Amino acid sequence: MNSTEIDNRIIDGKGFAEGLRSRVAEEVTALKASHNGLTPGLAVIIVGEDPASQIYVRNKNKQTIEAGMAGFEFKMPEDTSQADLLKKVLELNADDKVHGILVQLPLPDQIDEHEIINAIDPAKDVDGFHVVNSGLLATGQKAMVSCTPLGCLMLLKDRLGDLSGLDAVIIGRSNIVGKPMAALLLAESCTVTISHSRTRDLPDVVRRADIVVAAVGRAEMVRGDWIKPGATVIDVGINRVPAAEEGKTRVVGDVAFAEAIEVAGAITPVPKGVGPMTIACLLQNTLTACKRQNGLEAD
Ligand code: NAD
Repeated sequence: MNSTEIDNRIIDGKGFAEGLRSRVAEEVTALKASHNGLTPGLAVIIVGEDPASQIYVRNKNKQTIEAGMAGFEFKMPEDTSQADLLKKVLELNADDKVHGILVQLPLPDQIDEHEIINAIDPAKDVDGFHVVNSGLLATGQKAMVSCTPLGCLMLLKDRLGDLSGLDAVIIGRSNIVGKPMAALLLAESCTVTISHSRTRDLPDVVRRADIVVAAVGRAEMVRGDWIKPGATVIDVGINRVPAAEEGKTRVVGDVAFAEAIEVAGAITPVPKGVGPMTIACLLQNTLTACKRQNGLEAD
């Protein structure tokens, strides 16, 4: 396969996300102009010092500001109590300048994650993790949709157009990726299989798929010979592994990219695939939340 053929198979999530972010920024400018300076506001709460979370939150805040929105960041200590975190969420629910609230996961062990997420006003739940939003999504109603699956769906529709009737296999059944991804693909009339750690003969299940979404968290677990020729592969995984250079690390996905690209019709790379879409969708959800909270038309 020559390099042009390889390039054509790569789904450029980074480029797509840049386009989405600039469309959101344009809409924010128009909203401010037409509605007396109305500015979408995103509040991010981070508890503790998890290094990966710190990087995500920094990026989220930077891109929020770049999109012309207001970013509010709340850093809380590792030993924050359930009551204090709950109080912060309720305070932000009542704050008119805040249209979106995101509590960065994972949370320390003393915190009941479900109680915190379900305390967020569903209208401000831009991560789409609240039971009201997951319930609305599951029943085909207008919801705040989780950012990562939403980003995956946008890439799939951009590449494939109509997804109706396609066989989709999702690997991973988490509440933040696998399950909402399944609901979205079902709504697009795919035949959806959710596979997981107890699935028997996973390679065989994956071989049936026109669409594979891997959200496992195991470096390069999905091999090239699991992929049906021509299938579209979306790799959500972010796994840090040792790099060739002593002491350094690099990030790889859940799919063995070099093998899979030889067989797949299209595939997202890691990095520069699904990752950038997550923040772009978060910004879009914040804009949508702001519009809805102000009685304006939003998708
Ligand atoms: P999770 O740990 O909550 O869920 C992993 C899922 O994989 C589970 O449902 C489990 O059943 C399944 N699984 C584990 N081992 C398996 C195996 N051997 N065979 C088949 N299934 C197996 O993870 P998550 O939060 O859904 O994240 C999955 C991956 O996606 C991680 O690498 C995470 O870092 C990444 N992620 C990326 C983004 C992004 O923005 N790109 C967002 C969220 C998560």
